[in-house]
Parts: sequence; structure tokens; C-alpha cells
Amino acid sequence: MIITLKEGASVEAVKRGLTGLGLWVASTEHSEDGVVHIVVGKGSTRVAASELRGIEGILRVSMPAEVHPKMDAQGPKVMVGDRAIGGGTPVLVSGPCAVESEEQIARIAAALARQGTTFLRGGAFKPRTSPYAFQGHGVTALAWLRSAADANNLKVVTEVLSEPDVSLVAEHADVLQIGSRNMQNYALLKTVGKAKRPVLLKRSMAATVEEWLLAGEYLLTHGASGVVLCERGIRGFDDTTRNLLDLGAVALLAHVHKLPVIVDPSHGTGRRDLVLPLAKAALAAGAAGVMIETHDRAAEAASDGAQALKPEELAELRPWLEGGIR
Ligand code: PEP
Ligand code: MN
Repeated sequence: MIITLKEGASVEAVKRGLTGLGLWVASTEHSEDGVVHIVVGKGSTRVAASELRGIEGILRVSMPAEVHPKMDAQGPKVMVGDRAIGGGTPVLVSGPCAVESEEQIARIAAALARQGTTFLRGGAFKPRTSPYAFQGHGVTALAWLRSAADANNLKVVTEVLSEPDVSLVAEHADVLQIGSRNMQNYALLKTVGKAKRPVLLKRSMAATVEEWLLAGEYLLTHGASGVVLCERGIRGFDDTTRNLLDLGAVALLAHVHKLPVIVDPSHGTGRRDLVLPLAKAALAAGAAGVMIETHDRAAEAASDGAQALKPEELAELRPWLEGGIR
């Protein structure tokens, strides 16, 4: 946003007025003809041009064209059938990292339903860093996941890894997950958008918030019925935790952009002892829900056992999820 001052206006007084509204000044430019322009920093609190008219000394306000208009217009709630993510009680999305067998997912789904989970997660197609690591049971796992969810009245969230799989995953899942490694796979985003379903869009480990919002814009432009963002940690310089969980971005998206954002403290930290504290912090920051990896036999997990909680450990989150503590 660029603010042009009236001739003779006090630059300092205008700056104080802007700061008072939560805006920060990136630069002040004096043109050759003596006109002063104040450039408001990107990421400042959003204010309507009408609010600025109250500041003495402002001549004109130029708002930049919106870069992600569909995301800006979406609002805080995304419907998944008859259930909402955002705009009310936070949701609990949980399940194992990977769907390992029909029996495993059935057992875990039943245990999770007793803990207030409404969305069952589990990878059928796994994006593994090593080509030698377990890659998921694919289509077979999708069917196991769907029947485990149906038996417990849960919705299914699962990752779609590649374009040829989109229609198959859409047949089995309620929410299509775009994994971190694919957030900027624009061809995949377009194809997933065309499935016209709600999408859980994980943040790439190196994406800025703007890049993340633009990835959401791709999905909405191509037909997705809604986009829920998922913060899962970005790459930091410190490997003490697996990733650096960016709760500042969560607060920004929830409170300033008013978008549904859920938090995955499992991949965010990589350690089960930090998952619950960060899940609570996420909800306090404004998250519309949390996504937590759970396994009843973590020592036998095919992937990410070190960060998995037992289903019953989720009970500790109940007061936070019920909205009493936020
Ligand atoms: C996942 O949620 O299963 C996953 C692979 O996470 P991410 O894409 O965030 O690494
Ligand atoms: Mn995992």
C-alpha cells in the first residue's frame, strides 16, 4: 500500500497514525516535486482504506491489486460434507503416518473415534525421502482407510502424490492432502483442483506464506471446493527438532487473513514428547485444528514411529479442542 501525503503534512504525524492502526512503514520516499509517499510494509495488519481517512495529512491511498483474491475471499470455514474445518470448534485429524494393513487402520480408527477424532489421516501413497524406504500400500490402502473411517463415522484425509492418482484418491478420500514436497507442484495442484474437493495444503519446508497462499490460489482457481492450510514446520538451521514449527505464520493466517489453518506438530517436531505442548500452542495461536500422527504400536510403525502418540494420549487435548482454553 502506498500513501501519498498532502502538501505540508507532517510525515511523523502520519507515521504515528499508521502505527496506531497496526501498520508499519517500510520506507518514506520524497519525489522531486516535493510529494511524500509512505510505503506500508507487506505483512502489516490489514486495514480498509476508509480507516485511513481519519488520519490527518493523507491525500491518497493506493492499494495493490490482490494477488490471491480467491484465497482472500474464501473465509475461515471449509465444509467437508456436513463437517466444518474452521469457524468454530477446532478439529482433530489423526491417524498413523502410513496405512500399514487393514487390521492396523481398523484398530487405530476405532481407538481414535473414542478420543474425539473426526478426521482419520493415513498415507496410502507415501512421499519418502529415500527411494528404499516404505512407499505405502497405494490403492489397496485407500480401500482399507475408507472402510476403517466408515466403520467409525470418520472423514478421510489422505495424500495424493501424483497426477495419475488424483481421481482414485478422490474416490476414497473426503479431503485430498497435498504434501509438503508437492506444494509447488503446480501441475498437480491444477489436477487436484479439478477434482472439486476440499484440499489440505501442507506448507513446503521452504515456502514463504505468500508462496503458500498462491499455491492455495492455484487450487481454488482450478475448482477446489475449499483450501485448508497446514503448517508442518519449515527448515531451520537447528536440527534439534525435525523442523521449525512456525506458529507466527499460523497466527497471521488465522487472525489477519482469517483462513482455516491447521497445525501438524508431529512432522513439525519429529518427537512425540513435544507434540502435545505444540498442539496446545497451535490452538492458542488460532489454529482451526491439529493433525497428529498416532499409532498404537509405534515401535512397529513402518514410518515416523518416533513422533507417533498413542491414541489415548490425545485425551489431554480435549479441553483445548472443546474450546475452553484458547
Ligand atoms: C504426511 O503428513 O504424511 C507427510 C508426509 O507430511 P509432510 O508432507 O508435511 O512431510
Ligand atoms: Mn509421517
